[in-house]
Amino acid sequence: MKPEAFPEHVRPYIIPEPGGNLVYRCLGCKKKFGIEKLLYTCPECRQVLLIEDEKFDRLKKIPGSLWQEIFDYRKMLKIPALKGIYLYQEFIGSVIPGEYVVWLGEGHTPVVEANTRMQEKTGLRFYFKNDGQNPSASFKDRGMASALSYINFLVKTGRTSNVLAICASTGDTSAAAALYAAYLKPHVKSAVLLPHKKVTPQQLAQPLGAGASVYEIPGVFDDCMKVVEALADNYNVALLNSKNAWRILGQESYSYEIAQDFEYDMKDKVIVVPIGNAGNITAVMSGFLKFFEADIISDLPKIIGVQSRHANPVYRYYSEPDPDKREFVPVTVKPSVAQAAMIGNPVSMPRVIHLADIYDRTAGEQKVFFVEVTEQEIMDAELDANRNGHIACTHGGESLAGLSTAKQKGYVAENETAIVDSTAHALKFAGFQEMYFENSFPREFKIVPDKNLINAPKLVKPGDLKKTPAPGKPIFGKDFELFVKRVSEDIALDLNLNKLDSI
Ligand SMILES: *Cc1c(COP(=O)(O)O)cnc(C)c1O
Ligand SMILES: [Zn+2]
Repeated sequence: MKPEAFPEHVRPYIIPEPGGNLVYRCLGCKKKFGIEKLLYTCPECRQVLLIEDEKFDRLKKIPGSLWQEIFDYRKMLKIPALKGIYLYQEFIGSVIPGEYVVWLGEGHTPVVEANTRMQEKTGLRFYFKNDGQNPSASFKDRGMASALSYINFLVKTGRTSNVLAICASTGDTSAAAALYAAYLKPHVKSAVLLPHKKVTPQQLAQPLGAGASVYEIPGVFDDCMKVVEALADNYNVALLNSKNAWRILGQESYSYEIAQDFEYDMKDKVIVVPIGNAGNITAVMSGFLKFFEADIISDLPKIIGVQSRHANPVYRYYSEPDPDKREFVPVTVKPSVAQAAMIGNPVSMPRVIHLADIYDRTAGEQKVFFVEVTEQEIMDAELDANRNGHIACTHGGESLAGLSTAKQKGYVAENETAIVDSTAHALKFAGFQEMYFENSFPREFKIVPDKNLINAPKLVKPGDLKKTPAPGKPIFGKDFELFVKRVSEDIALDLNLNKLDSI
């Protein structure tokens, strides 16, 4: 629909104007810094930053109900810059003019209701939000669309040039970074650092395919992160990890989309997210808080953060009930099938502590909860979900297992509705499914496959056939007829098929 066709009261707002006054705010010393230069930590106290709109109050002058209409009508526009996360431009990168927005198809991922069988098993109504249906097959595209749109704005307006974008990754960050950087060629190049053998072959293929410089480093993600930080401290590079507050801003779109998908009714809703470096849960909390402040939603949903027992520093921190006694201690991670969340020292921990506190205080009750799950629970939940029509990755399984745990612990009641984050596509982690089916997990995972979930292909090659076709070597005539007949008979026998009555 064309802008001029919208109702008169919506028309002035339908195309967002650049506005606001964005600044980096340090979570340590609380000082603010201009956004003209890319900053990752506070130049004075080294603490992490968040981007804040000093003119946020201007957005509150528009009634929440009008914002709802603006976003709903905006969905009908055919303008690429507004088709993704910048549908909510005023709440994301409000200073970036639309012409610099990079949209590769990210955002507005499907929210798919679980079938009756799964809902009965879990004991409440729930949906998966399939963030694996983003262009690089994970939610990381949301943050990259934001960070790279800003970099594109800086480059195209002559504020910077020849950007080398760099990140450490458990696989998906590098896939997303390489994809968006490739789109901005030749102004932006990318280099990614991955823990050697700790990303899946599919995830490794992605930055390679996008033409990034790919470096494999011994150790785990936390080690790669230190190297990337050293590079960002000493060389002229643009850091694309979620330490970069622009990433967080883009990932807030996940919350905005959920609000919109549920007609802005967040009462009795529960959002379940896996936690690794804790950028995602930071963004999810921040997003809902902003919509709440602007009166676009009138309730804050519950948020359940889930960690594997093999990488659970955030869960451990919050398992101390007395906030004054809580102390953050990084953990040494053990291998996890939720490999993209295998992080012992999450960069965004200070952001989580900061925002979870504000979130609960704003809601007037505890709304943010943390649970941990076992590797077995993650795999079983993933495979069960996919057997019921989903495309959940291991982290989607982790989220679902976390929802069950939260239900058992009484954090979630049966009258509530959950939205479970499947952060990536199942295919990225097919190797873990294969290990499960072949019962070949290394001991430390402690995973015993459930026989009912195992599946394997069957080779159909009847022993009495003298000739079978092969690639480049077709067979013909009687041989081929016999082949088709015998193979179909064997399949029919295996499937216990009834023969059609002769016509
Ligand atoms: C990065 C990632 C996570 C963890 O998100 P954080 O923001 O690091 O907490 C979870 N799942 C997948 C698939 C990821 O790629
Ligand atoms: Zn500071």
